[in-house]
Amino acid sequence: MKHSPRQIIDGFWSLLTGMRITLGQFFKPTVTVQYPHESLKMPTRFRGHIVFVRDPETGKSLCIACKACEKACPSDCIVVDGIKREGEKRKSVTDFKLDFTKCSLCGSCVEVCPTDALEFSRAYNLASVSKEQFHCIDLVKRLEQE
Ligand code: SF4
Ligand code: SF4
Repeated sequence: MKHSPRQIIDGFWSLLTGMRITLGQFFKPTVTVQYPHESLKMPTRFRGHIVFVRDPETGKSLCIACKACEKACPSDCIVVDGIKREGEKRKSVTDFKLDFTKCSLCGSCVEVCPTDALEFSRAYNLASVSKEQFHCIDLVKRLEQE
């Protein structure tokens, strides 16, 4: 099959264009993340499961166990409990369980909280072979272990 001079020039030009793009990319910084050895830094708007915000003064949770989040949750996936200790003005949270298998990450719990005790985590790589692992995320225990 014969090629016209025009086709040969077009083919050569196309080859040069491809080489130019390849060389241009070759000297640019790498964008590939070598997961799991490297992790992405999640943007502030990212929504992982909810976690407690730590009080910078006491180091404890800001939660006063008012149950507003429990009531506001449309998926019924929060259970909160607390006690009022002697000498304290407000209640302290003793139990806060999240069923993450039902959570839609709607944010109602975070918005309704009167003490800003909840925020979304940056946990983007939760993985398991069994969803049972996510039935009960214990926020009190997580804060203690951090
Ligand atoms: S983000 Fe929405 S669905 Fe998830 S726990 Fe909070 S209120 Fe419930
Ligand atoms: S997290 Fe906020 S809304 Fe939920 S029980 Fe604690 S203080 Fe109330």
